[in-house]
Amino acid sequence: MGERVAVETPHPRAAAERVAERLDGRRLEAVEAVGKNLLLSFEGGLVLRSHLRMSGRWQVVERGTARRGTPWLVLSGAESEAVLWNGPVLELSGRAARRLGPDILALPPDIPAMSANLRREPDTRELGDALLDQRLVSGIGNVWKAEALWQAELSPWLRLGDVSDEELERVLGEAARLMRASLDDGRAVRSVYRKAGRPCPRCGTSIRSRGQGDDNRTAYWCPACQPERVRDAPTETGKEPPAA
Ligand SMILES: [Zn+2]
Repeated sequence: MGERVAVETPHPRAAAERVAERLDGRRLEAVEAVGKNLLLSFEGGLVLRSHLRMSGRWQVVERGTARRGTPWLVLSGAESEAVLWNGPVLELSGRAARRLGPDILALPPDIPAMSANLRREPDTRELGDALLDQRLVSGIGNVWKAEALWQAELSPWLRLGDVSDEELERVLGEAARLMRASLDDGRAVRSVYRKAGRPCPRCGTSIRSRGQGDDNRTAYWCPACQPERVRDAPTETGKEPPAA
């Protein structure tokens, strides 16, 4: 950071973004992780957003280190270079950061702001789908979505309109807690993720799985602990019967 960097985009898909032409020779001012996004800020207000999904990798090596294969991007400073392999998401803009929701891994995470973002979505949107929308909350991936919903005892199939504010904050709080614990001690406790057909650790019911959302990411849930509530189901609230 702080150096002017030489920028190359050896991979043709990255070259199509014209990242090298626009960034070459600019000073790299800041590098920040927001959820699973890496935001590289260059002088002149340009922000390069890289998201690694499952396959990408950044590597920092001594400048000129021999390499095999074709990296997406190489940022070279005086002594070291940063090399991006398999960059499924690489986007250059002046406002990349603003298009992401609050970071679930921030200390502390801004749960009320995330909750407010979710509240602005259509009432019919499924909770599990919305939790993966990086514009609303950044950083929750498919594993932690499943685990946080299980901890919070909320179904991924609930419509946002059927979820209370307290429940939204509960599932976001669980996601933050689980992800932070996993980062801090490296443990990865899995209660439902990729456990379809196995017994729920809480109640023994078989875990289910099904694709959810436009990307058809697989949701995992316990149908007993995480019931899909029926909208408009009559509930007794203890009201007094009308006076006779
Ligand atoms: Zn269960």
